[in-house]
Amino acid sequence: MTGAYLDYNATCIPRPAAAKAAAEVLAEGGNPSSIHASGRKARGRLESARAEIARLANARAEDVVLTSGATEANTQALSQPGVTRVLLSDIEHPSVLEAAPMAQRVPVTPAGVVDLNALRALLTGQDNSGTLVAIMAVNNETGVIQPLVEVAGIVAEAGARLHVDAVQAAGRIDLDIASLGTATLSLSGHKIGGPTGVGALVLAKGTTVSAMILGGGQERRRRGGTENLVGAVGFAAAASEVLASRDDEQSRIAALRDRLETNLATEAPNAMILGQQAPRVANTSCIALPGISAERQVIAMDLGGVQVSAGSACSSGKVAASHVLTAMGHPPEIAGTAIRVSLGWASGEADVDAFLEAYGRLAAKA
Ligand code: PLP
Repeated sequence: MTGAYLDYNATCIPRPAAAKAAAEVLAEGGNPSSIHASGRKARGRLESARAEIARLANARAEDVVLTSGATEANTQALSQPGVTRVLLSDIEHPSVLEAAPMAQRVPVTPAGVVDLNALRALLTGQDNSGTLVAIMAVNNETGVIQPLVEVAGIVAEAGARLHVDAVQAAGRIDLDIASLGTATLSLSGHKIGGPTGVGALVLAKGTTVSAMILGGGQERRRRGGTENLVGAVGFAAAASEVLASRDDEQSRIAALRDRLETNLATEAPNAMILGQQAPRVANTSCIALPGISAERQVIAMDLGGVQVSAGSACSSGKVAASHVLTAMGHPPEIAGTAIRVSLGWASGEADVDAFLEAYGRLAAKA
């Protein structure tokens, strides 16, 4: 990547170890379902990768269903037979929101944290045996960490089932599927430095899921189709690196993000940092600059050699006011003028300096 890349929440710069591992297995080939020697070798590689990916959530290897990404994992979790009612927080990723368009919404507080009283009220006084609640671990736009222990307690007490989109939490905070009390959890390879197009639906011990993609008995009949061996191996290599270096990496990144936010007050006194009142992961800063649309900011920053994204980046490339910031109660003048700055393993001081310089120029025009 050229210039300052500060869009890790969209996709992480691939970790060299992941690229190397994926390239090796691509060159080798093999179908894990074949019973001959190359098939057995591929199967061995796939199962080792699965075990490594499982470690991201302290889960068992046999409870990891490899998917094409977190979008598929979220869709599968939300489309289970027997689910008669779905509750989703207002700040979920579109892959969750659009998987259950008729779902009831759980609001968030102005700090961007799921409103636990509202969740409790929505679950009170009814049979919740068919109810599924989906609350993300970390919001992708603000970096705000959600109170999952409390959420899981409320959901369990009500007799409902929980799904956690843990895409932006993996490798940044502790994830232990058993102590989180969630039935299912989704992960994505490219958010931690692995390849795009691979992810996982992780199941708590004893959770069963029905396949969405049929044909072939792969993934213990939970997802048909020849496995993405190259993707899984790359994902696993990224997972190993993340797990080994997490604490050091996150404290280094936190220092960079803190410097960025502290200096922002001088470079751009009119900018506002959103979600700062709540606990956040170390790498994300959501910054509004009233007066300049998020889209214009992203373009201006890109021209200045700094890659960031709008608070709400749509896949079509069109940017609308962020639904997350709107849910936090921000008016369109703020929800439509926020960019997301997200750092990662390859970020350094020079990236922060480049950001501050380009942003300072932009803010002077607001
Ligand atoms: N969930 C969250 C919170 C995300 O940030 C993303 C990606 O932006 C996804 C799900 C979708 O992941 P994938 O790209 O693997 O489908």
